Order: sequence, then structure tokens, then C-alpha cells
Amino acid sequence: MESHSSLSSSSSSSPPSSLSSESCCVKVAVNVRPLIGDEVTQGCRECVSVSPVTPQVQMGTHPFTFDHVYGSNGSPSSLMFEECVAPLVDGLFHGYNATVLAYGQTGSGKTYTMGTGIKDGTKNGLIPQVMSALFNKIDSVKHQMGFQLHVSFIEILKEEVLDLLDSSVPFNRLANGTPGKVVLSKSPVQIRESPNGVITLSGATEVPIATKEEMASCLEQGSLTRATGSTNMNNESSRSHAIFTITLEQMRKISSISVVKDTVDEDMGEEYCCAKLHLVDLAGSERAKRTGSGGVRLKEGIHINRGLLALGNVISALGDEKRRKEGAHVPYRDSKLTRLLQDSLGGNSKTVMIACISPADINAEETLNTLKYANRARNIQNKPVANKDLICSEMQKMRQELQYLQATLCARGATSSEEVQVMREKIMKLESANEELSRELHIYRSKRVTLDYCNIDAQEDGVIFSKDDGLKRGFESMDSDYEMSEATSGGISEDIGAAEEWEHALRQNSMGKELNELSKRLEEKESEMRVCGIGTETIRQHFEKKMMELEKEKRTVQDERDMLLAEVEELAASSDRQAQVARDNHAHKLKALETQILNLKKKQENQVEVLKQKQKSEDAAKRLKTEIQCIKAQKVQLQQKMKQEAEQFRQWKASQEKELLQLKKEGRKTEHERLKLEALNRRQKMVLQRKTEEAAMATKRLKELLEARKSSPHDISVIANGQPPSRQTNEKSLRKWLDNELEVMAKVHQVRFQYEKQIQVRAALAVELTSLRQEMEFPSNSHQEKNGQFRFLSPNTRLERIASLESMLDVSSNALTAMGSQLSEAEEREHSLHAKPRWNHIQSMTDAKYLLQYVFDSTAEARSKIWEKDRDIKEKKEQLNDLLCLLQLTEVQNREILKEKKTREQTVSIALASTSSSYSVFKFNPYFHTKIQNSLLGISP
Ligand code: ADP
Ligand code: MG
Repeated sequence: MESHSSLSSSSSSSPPSSLSSESCCVKVAVNVRPLIGDEVTQGCRECVSVSPVTPQVQMGTHPFTFDHVYGSNGSPSSLMFEECVAPLVDGLFHGYNATVLAYGQTGSGKTYTMGTGIKDGTKNGLIPQVMSALFNKIDSVKHQMGFQLHVSFIEILKEEVLDLLDSSVPFNRLANGTPGKVVLSKSPVQIRESPNGVITLSGATEVPIATKEEMASCLEQGSLTRATGSTNMNNESSRSHAIFTITLEQMRKISSISVVKDTVDEDMGEEYCCAKLHLVDLAGSERAKRTGSGGVRLKEGIHINRGLLALGNVISALGDEKRRKEGAHVPYRDSKLTRLLQDSLGGNSKTVMIACISPADINAEETLNTLKYANRARNIQNKPVANKDLICSEMQKMRQELQYLQATLCARGATSSEEVQVMREKIMKLESANEELSRELHIYRSKRVTLDYCNIDAQEDGVIFSKDDGLKRGFESMDSDYEMSEATSGGISEDIGAAEEWEHALRQNSMGKELNELSKRLEEKESEMRVCGIGTETIRQHFEKKMMELEKEKRTVQDERDMLLAEVEELAASSDRQAQVARDNHAHKLKALETQILNLKKKQENQVEVLKQKQKSEDAAKRLKTEIQCIKAQKVQLQQKMKQEAEQFRQWKASQEKELLQLKKEGRKTEHERLKLEALNRRQKMVLQRKTEEAAMATKRLKELLEARKSSPHDISVIANGQPPSRQTNEKSLRKWLDNELEVMAKVHQVRFQYEKQIQVRAALAVELTSLRQEMEFPSNSHQEKNGQFRFLSPNTRLERIASLESMLDVSSNALTAMGSQLSEAEEREHSLHAKPRWNHIQSMTDAKYLLQYVFDSTAEARSKIWEKDRDIKEKKEQLNDLLCLLQLTEVQNREILKEKKTREQTVSIALASTSSSYSVFKFNPYFHTKIQNSLLGISP
């Protein structure tokens, strides 16, 4: 299908001689790699901004538009293959040549992007992806056609084409260990041009490929060879171009396309086509750095890679529409690279350039150069042509047309009006059914929506409440956190101390209370006991006495009774009247005595009862006693505990105080460090500001000069009012022009100097920032690190320092970007002067002679000035030396004085010690003390 459409479209739009030709621009994509390790440690900032919507890259005030921008904020780099390279791979199968060029300064990611590196290119790079896509496509169409694949891998180094796949020659670019000319035992690869203008490489190995693995191994082998060579030789890979070429030849049987049944043309034959895909990892685009010795610039032209220079000129020639239309000469033959890529640039190829850039501000100059270069390349128009056998193609085209016509005819004939009618009816039925179903669906949907709403309403109240609670809690916890943090950020140790003390007081208080309680209880018990004890003893004695008395009384009463009874019996025996009376008396008495005895008995019983009571109270007293003992023991225990606690607290407090003292000491130290740091901050900022201001001024002046140059063209011999300028005005303008030129040079030098200084300053700041940040992250390690200078920084001070470092870095970054951009401008101007040499516009010998004289005069003057300055410097140096000698002398003297003072002090202290021990009179007399001291130190009062 694809081939059909491309063929039919081309047949209508292009002349028959250039089959399937269409002119198309070189596609340019920018790939912004992330900041890498080295740049991060130097504290680089990103200085390019990418707008993702329009594929645009902006640097400073320069916006550049491209076909695609990857990385940074642009599209992800993973899309690069699909968007830029996959169409080229497809094109190969239709016979279109293609080229992918990776351009950019060293380290911008060209090798990474192409996948020609041995380290990280094997999977993500474009070439490995090309291989996969190529073999997938071949797998899917191999039943239709035959394929033949070849690859070659070459490198262009110092205008020498080297074969990276030649396994017979060990790749030895080093003769006797010094970087020098390439040593190859075989004759080097030659570039040939066939009569029909096709460029070929003779002598380069073309490896036939059958599988993806074979191709990958070729890539690996070549990359390895390149890398080995470059490590031997001061990283020459940044000065070499690597070209990996895949050649695809196809033989297609055309007969199988026929649509008409049972008609297979036997004589249709085969179509052959061949296409090449060049995958180019270009040399680093950076210019060699100038040396600044005496302001004389190195002859940089030599150091610019010839291939890249020629490529730039080719791009300029092709990219300038006016020059292209005028049929200006395109200098393909200026270098091997441009000769090899002749077709890729303005010729028969679909070409994609991938401009690789680093976003780091230290690379601002080169990045801007790359962007300008790449932007010019976008204007190049190519004319890709499918490389097919001409007659075959013509025939095939006609055949396809025939088939197409036949197919249409067939389609028309096959469908009768009856069938059409039946179909229409069927469609109508189906459509009405569809409508019905849609309606039903709609109804169900709306029902569901209302149901959902109901559900949500039902749930909502509860949900809201719980959410609210959660929120509240969140706030509360936040508040408390805040308070906590506030407390800790203030006098932490004091607060902790207060809390501890308070707790201790509380504990002591509660124990004291317990003790009081115990004491009170003890007292109570003891008084109780006392009451019991006193009562029982006396009562007992009292009762015992009473009992005894009672007993005695009882006994006397009993005796009396017994006597009476005996008398009564005696009387009974005598039995007379008197006796009768006496007997009655006695009976009476007896009765009284009986009652008395009874009374006494009762009393005795009472006494027994009382004694029982007493026993009981004694028991109670015993109990009380044990209780009292127990309480006493408790009391002792408690007192001991209190004592212990107090001791512990005392110890704790002592340690706290010690710690506090330590902290205070450290605090003083930290404060001191902080002050020191603040001063340093201020000083650094001032220095940075001064440097930046100087740089800004130089940059501004350079900008003005460059702009002035731009607005007034090179021609100095301006013809005023149609008259040739007078001799004087001419000379004046010549002088002015030369001065201007020289000033530009000087300013460029100055700006570059500042630029490099700024990078150094920035790197130092960045190192400090990184170590501070690391300390913040892993504070435990901080003491082990030998970061030395500021070890005692409190977190706050550290944060302050970090902030100030960051702001300084920002300032530095901006300055760097500005300088880089101006340097790039100057570079561009210088470059344009290459195309049109500086002296071109000097038209007469008189002018030249005048200018020469002027240059001579200026040089002589400059030299004399330099001599004067040198002499000045010499004088200053001598003065400095004198001063240094003086300083040394003073230091020596100072040291001696200090030593003397020390010895005197020692003598004083020894003398004082002996005096105080022998003369107690002086012991406490401060007057004598000072007097002695003074006399010993040699001070008169
Ligand atoms: P060049 O070939 O232009 O000199 P390289 O491809 O060797 O540059 O890349 C330089 C460094 O940058 C390498 O260490 C590489 O891993 C890294 N790099 C380049 N591009 C990327 C990227 N897109 N992502 C991560 N690292 C990259
Ligand atoms: Mg590289």
C-alpha cells in the first residue's frame, strides 16, 4: 500500500527523470541532556529553558525554534527514535538514503544519543533502536522480497579515514607512545566519486550481515576500537567523526501484487533498490581554548576541526536561501567529512540533525553556538530520490496503475443494483435497532446517576463529620508540633531542667505527704496505746488490792459466821431463855453475815469480769504495738527512699549543670563561628559582586562594540554625498576601525578571563554548599569529616550559610550565562570574518600602508607601555620584599618579647609561692602582694 501511494503521488508531481523526488528540509531536533556529575559538583545551574508546546529552546533572550526538542521540559528522549529516525528506516525500504547526524560540543551526549559508546550506548542509543526496527521490518516483509545488508564503520580523524571494522589490523594510532600520526599497515580508505556522482569508500570493510546480533557485534567492535584509540591519545574521540553506515539492498518480485484473480504476469521481473543509512557521531564542536599568554591568541584556526569547519560552511552556503538560489558554490570538497556527507546535505538523502546540548551555564557559550549552527541547518533543502532501477520502476508504475484501474473496474462490475438494494435495507434495519438500543441505554444511565446521587446523599453527613474531626485533629497536632518545635528551638536545656526539677519536687512532696501521714498514724496509735497501757496497770493493781481486801473481809466474815455458828450450837445445848435470846441474836447476825458474804461474792464476780476486760485491752495494746512497729519500719524505709531520691536528683542536677556549662561554652564558640561566617559571607559577597560587576562591564562594552560593528558594515571607505572621502576622514575611519577591532579582541580576552575566574569561584562555593547539604542530611558523619573550618555550626547558621551560598551561586550563574552569550556572539563574528577575511575591504596600497604605519605605532607604544609597567612591577616587588623583611624582623622581635614576658611571669609566680609560705605577714596583704609582683616585674609604683 505504502509504496503504491508514494509512487502514484510522485508520478503526478515530479518529472519522469527524477522518480519519487520531493525536496524536504533537513530536520533538526535538539536533545538537552540532564546536568551530569561534574557539572553538579561545580554548582552549575541550567541556563536553557525549553517551551514544551512549541518546540523552542530559549537561552537568555535568544529563542530558537526546532522541529523537536527532547529532554529538559521538552518531549521525553525516548520519543526521539519514533519521531525522527523511524521514518528514515521506513524510507530505506522505499530506496531513500538517510542520514542522522549528532552534533554538539564534547560531553553534550552525542555518543550517548547515537549509541556508539561502549559504556552506555548499547541499549538506549539510536543505532541499537535502528537495528531492532530494521530487522523487525525485514521479518515482516521477507516473504515478498530478498534482502542484502552490509555495514561499514569508519572514523575520520585529522582528515584521515580509518576503518574501524578492519580486524586484520590492530588499531594502533600511537607510534612509539606519543600522540602523532595514525599508523596503519594497510593503505588508508579512499573516497571515490562514481561518474553519476555517487560517493563510495574504497578500502573500507563492508561486512555482510544476516542477523541483528551480527550487526550489533559490528557496532560493538568498532566502538571498542575507537575507544581504545582515544584513551591512548588524549581523548581523540572528541576530535574524530564516527560514521556507521547500513546499506540495504532489496530485490522485489513485482508479480505478487496483482489484485485480479488468476492473472499472474510472468514477465514482470524484479525491482532492485539500494539505500544507505549513515549514522554519524560528529566530533566535538567546541573551539580549542585560547591561551592568554601576553594577550596573544593561539592560531585557533588550526585547532578547529577541519571537517566541522567545512560542514559549517556547507550548511551556511546551503542554508542561505539567497545564495542557494544564486547557485553559489558549496564547498563540499573542503574536507573528507563533507565529501562523504555530500548527499546528506542538500542532496539525495533524508537527513536529521540532532543537536546535543548541555544545559549547564558553564557551557552557555558552546550551547549557544550549537543552537545557532543547528538553526542554520534547518534551512537546508534536500532532494531525496528513491534509488530504484529506472526501467523497472517505470514498468512497475504503469503496472500498478493498470492494476488500480482494473480493481476499480472490477469493483464497479461486481456490485449489481439488486445487491445494493438489499444491503441498503439491511443497513436501515440495523440503524433503527441501534437507535432503540441507544435510547434504552440512555434511560438506564440516567437512572443510575440518580441512584448514585441518592447513595452519596445518604452517606454524606457521616463522612463530613469524620472528615471534620480528622481535620481538627490534624490542626491540633500541628499546633502542638509547632509549640514543641518552638520550645526546642529556644532554651532547650533550661526547659528540660525545669521540668525535671518540678517533677522531682512533686515526687518529694508526695513522699513527704506520705511520711506525714505515717507519722500522724503512728502518733495516734501511740496515744491510743498509752491510754491502754496506763489504765490497765493501775486498774489491775487497784482491783487486785480490792480483791484481796474482799477476800480478807470475806474470810473474817466467814470466821465470824463460823464463830457464831459454834456459839449457836453451844447455846442450843444449854437451852435456857437467855440462850434462846442470844440464839435469836446470833441467827440475826448470821443472816446479816450471810447477806454480807453474798454481797462480797457478787463483788468478786464483778472483779473477775473486769479482769477479763483488762485481758482484752491488753491484747489490743499488743496489736497496736506491732502495728506501730510496722509503721515505724515503713517510715524508715520512706525516709531512706527520700534520701536516695534526693541524692539522685542532686547528681543529675550536677551533671545537667556541667552539660549546660559545656553547651554555653560551645554556644560561645558557635556564636564566634557564626560571626566569623557572617563576616566571610559579607566579604565573599562583596568580592563576588565586584567580580561580577567587572565582568558585567566588560561584557557590556563587548556587546556595544559588537553591536556597533553589526550596524556599520565592514566598508570603511564610505562614500559621503557621492564624493570619495577626503584623505583625512578616510584615515580617521581606518584608525577607528582598527581600534575597534583591537578593542573587541582585548575585551573578548578580558571577558574570557573573567569567565574562567568566575567558574573557579563558583566551583569553590558549590563544593562548600554540597558538603553543608550533606552534613544537614547525615549530621552524624559531620564530625568525622575534615570539613574543618566550620564544624560547630548550629542548624540555623548552617541554613543561613546555605541560603547565602545559593544566592551567590545564582548571581554567578547569571553572570556566566551573560558572558557565555557575548562570547558566542564574538565567536560568530570572528567566524564570519573567516569567510570574508578581515583585510578584504582595504582597497588601496595607500590605505594599507597607512594602516600598517598605524599598527606599527600602536605596537611600539604598547611595547613601551609594557616596559614601563614591567619596571613598575619590579619596583613594587622590591618594595614588597623590603616590607616582607621588615615584617619578619618585627615578628622575631615580637616573639622574643613574648618569651621574656613569659619567663618573668613564671619567676613572679614562683617567688610569690615561696613568699606566701614563709612570710605569713604578707599572706593576706594585697598591698604587699602587688608590690612584690611589681618589683619583680620591674614596674615602679
Ligand atoms: P559526547 O559524545 O558528546 O562527547 P557523551 O555521549 O560521551 O558526550 O556524554 C557525556 C556524558 O554525559 C557521559 O557520561 C554520558 O553518560 C552522559 N550523558 C549524555 N547524555 C545523557 C543523558 N541523556 N542522560 C544521562 N546522561 C547522559
Ligand atoms: Mg563522544
